[in-house]
Amino acid sequence: MTVNSILVYAPSWIGDSVMSLGAVRALRENYPSARLAILTRPWVQELYSGCDIVDDTILYDPRGADLGIEGFFRAAGRVRREGFDVGVVFPNAFRAAALVRVAGVRERWGYATESRGFLLTKRVPQAPRPFGRHQSHFYLDLLSGLGLAVAEPDTSLTLTPAMREAARGLLERHGWKGGALVGVHPGATNSRAKVWKASRFAEVAVRLAEEHDAQVVVLGGVTEGELAAEVQRGLPPNIALTLQGRTSLADLMGVLAELSVFLTNDSGPMHLSAALGVRTLAVFGPTDARETGPVGARALVVREPVDCSPCVYRDCPIDHRCMERVSAQRVYEEASTLVAS
Ligand code: SF4
Repeated sequence: MTVNSILVYAPSWIGDSVMSLGAVRALRENYPSARLAILTRPWVQELYSGCDIVDDTILYDPRGADLGIEGFFRAAGRVRREGFDVGVVFPNAFRAAALVRVAGVRERWGYATESRGFLLTKRVPQAPRPFGRHQSHFYLDLLSGLGLAVAEPDTSLTLTPAMREAARGLLERHGWKGGALVGVHPGATNSRAKVWKASRFAEVAVRLAEEHDAQVVVLGGVTEGELAAEVQRGLPPNIALTLQGRTSLADLMGVLAELSVFLTNDSGPMHLSAALGVRTLAVFGPTDARETGPVGARALVVREPVDCSPCVYRDCPIDHRCMERVSAQRVYEEASTLVAS
């Protein structure tokens, strides 16, 4: 069949969206002249702004403007008006397949999960995921199951000059002197178990900043003020700046691109920085870095092996040993090696 236009129903979260980029790239390579659009949540949309493999985006905001069943049909109407030949549904949710069906997308491809097979025109059975297989393969396996050509996942991101310029302006307005920058992101969405001690992040950042004559920028979402403040308290005021709660996704990506090194937990910003080729050190505890770790030659994971990891907990039911045992000294040493590389 001739495919002139493809809609990708993208994952909801930043990290998953980054990990799906390899599959988006593979779609572009399989259909080089087709229009490739992304149905995306508003908080992820800017991730695609600098992607030259993507032609445009359509918003779906089920927690805001498209809340409830009316919002669902409104979003389906937006897709219908564009008239896509193919919809590739990356998330496993029933609602995702239902939306492309209601939108009248002619060919609908996805995993046959959640009893939604009848909504799809090409169904790929989801095999049990081999232990330790990276999440980026989950999306590529869907494409290979559809008979498309795929290579190793390339999840790299690029920024437009305007995005970089805007981020530099933001940093300068908050006290950046234009030199080396160490970035710290002490939070992790929806999980306290994934959070390493903020005071240890501060300790490592100060040592790195002193050695490299750098400033430290603290990053985080709007709900991460407490953690950001705790890092801030551990930093000498003359080197510290904070952008916690003050960045759009595009700003965040632009700021990450300026960093000499980024210290983070397992988080969406971790995936962004690794995809941007920034030196990224991620402290892992309850999650499995083989499955959700940062992808890229300049990304490094630090963890201490404990018998109970990986686990499914958002709050540790015992003594949080997976994170407690990761010392500031160890992270500092690994980060120093990374900076020198
Ligand atoms: S149960 Fe173990 S792996 Fe899970 S959060 Fe607690 S210490 Fe970490």
